[in-house]
Amino acid sequence: MNTASSNTSAAHAPSTSEPAWYEQGLPHIWLPYSQMKTASPPLPCVATQGSRITLADGRVLVDGVAAWWTACHGYNHPHIHASAADQLARMPHVMFGGMVHEPALHLASRLCALLPGDLERVFFTDSGSVAVEVAMKMAIQYRLNRGEHTRTKMLAFQGGYHGDTLATMAICDPEEGMHHLYGSALAQHVIAPLPVDEASTARFYSLLEQHAHELAAIIVEPLVQGAGGMLFHPAHVLQTLRAAADRYDVLLILDEIFTGFGRTGSLFACQQAGIVPDIITLSKALTGGTMALAATVARRHVFEAFLSDNPEHALMHGPTFMANPLACACANASLDLFECEPRLEQVAAINTILTEELEACRHLPGVHDVRTLGAIGVVELERIANPDSLRQTFIAHGAWVRPFRNIVYLTPAFTISEDELRHLTRTIRAVLAG
Ligand SMILES: *Cc1c(COP(=O)(O)O)cnc(C)c1O
Repeated sequence: MNTASSNTSAAHAPSTSEPAWYEQGLPHIWLPYSQMKTASPPLPCVATQGSRITLADGRVLVDGVAAWWTACHGYNHPHIHASAADQLARMPHVMFGGMVHEPALHLASRLCALLPGDLERVFFTDSGSVAVEVAMKMAIQYRLNRGEHTRTKMLAFQGGYHGDTLATMAICDPEEGMHHLYGSALAQHVIAPLPVDEASTARFYSLLEQHAHELAAIIVEPLVQGAGGMLFHPAHVLQTLRAAADRYDVLLILDEIFTGFGRTGSLFACQQAGIVPDIITLSKALTGGTMALAATVARRHVFEAFLSDNPEHALMHGPTFMANPLACACANASLDLFECEPRLEQVAAINTILTEELEACRHLPGVHDVRTLGAIGVVELERIANPDSLRQTFIAHGAWVRPFRNIVYLTPAFTISEDELRHLTRTIRAVLAG
């Protein structure tokens, strides 16, 4: 086997101490959001436990990201492992077309019991982006099934992020998102400012008034716009959106893919505003970071718009791995942990430490803002000249922190120890202090 692959780019040339699988496979892998010519080589990771990631060379990093916000119980939780092993032995997968199984039905009924109002029909998919696309299709077809053929657009928000597929990119923030890269390949939707103050509320209502006749739904990430830069907004904004959606007879979709399952301090962010969306999307922490799974949950009136003698009124969607039993078993185990372990108390304790520790960054040079909500801690800088090299500095300190745009943030597992958390916050402080 020729390991000295000639097509390895200089920037990705692994050092000689890396494992053979790394040297052999790296020239054949395409990494996410990476300029493959210049990006630092990825870390060879060999094991995870709790809030720690072990690298091939034996180094251990404390994880501040929880595997892109998914591993809320830490890695390798024994209860999730036991449930997965049990399901694996019996039935890892079966198609969901014309068949159902206990893990999915059990999970659907549990999710509906936890969600507010009459959110009572669950459509399972295998990624967040697809869950959002399904929500968009539900909202559009809700109109089509009633004979309204022009209401096919979404009203989404500046700073929003809803996924990377062609349909979801089109409802992300137009400046920070990928609109400018993909240009005319993207559908046109209405992008408004969040109604946070008098001026933005006026602008929001004028766009709504102008476009209501062509809108199927308003879509928003409640309380925190995550990938758009960890931007927070108060709960009353969501009450404004609920009232506006009712007034203009458009559906309200809450994308809780990031905020769902405790991240903002309550099990779902919408509970802090006391509102019920017409459709909600869930993913990220749904399986406790173990398996890919997502859900789109609709209220009764949305579902009922699809009940008809006309076969064309059915929701036409069905991913191959929909409701994968192994993933559903992991999600059920994750919900067990929310029931029997004190996750929301842990989130509150994390918030206290994040707030106390990160506040000390506020007066460092180049720091623009410090904010926390639930188990989210953000240090916003004026700018980050080179996020990649900043990440390398964190790695050198034994911290897995992934700065992007102009923010350094922490979204740890809810089970992180106080020592591990303080290691992360103090590393951020030390690194930003220079
Ligand atoms: C991550 C995310 C998505 C996309 O989920 P994928 O599983 O990456 O497709 C959509 N919406 C929000 C709010 C997210 O945070």
